[in-house]
Amino acid sequence: MEMSAFILEKLCLACKHCVNACPVQAITMMAHFPVVDPTKCTECETCIESCMHGAITFRVTEEEKANG
Ligand code: SF4
Ligand code: SF4
Repeated sequence: MEMSAFILEKLCLACKHCVNACPVQAITMMAHFPVVDPTKCTECETCIESCMHGAITFRVTEEEKANG
């Protein structure tokens, strides 16, 4: 099953730590919040460790949901 890091905007303080922490540059700032590109994410969990606000979790990608 394809999983990807996912930002919980309600908890995110836009500190950008996760953006800088991601080793494959899968996280970019879109408007005021970071967004994960699921096609780049390697599920390494580095961003989760970098986030001091518990704003990052894992979830099944939209693409996988669409495929059932
Ligand atoms: S899990 Fe790893 S690859 Fe995926 S967004 Fe977080 S730091 Fe980047
Ligand atoms: S490290 Fe956490 S709080 Fe900071 S921008 Fe990333 S998700 Fe938001």
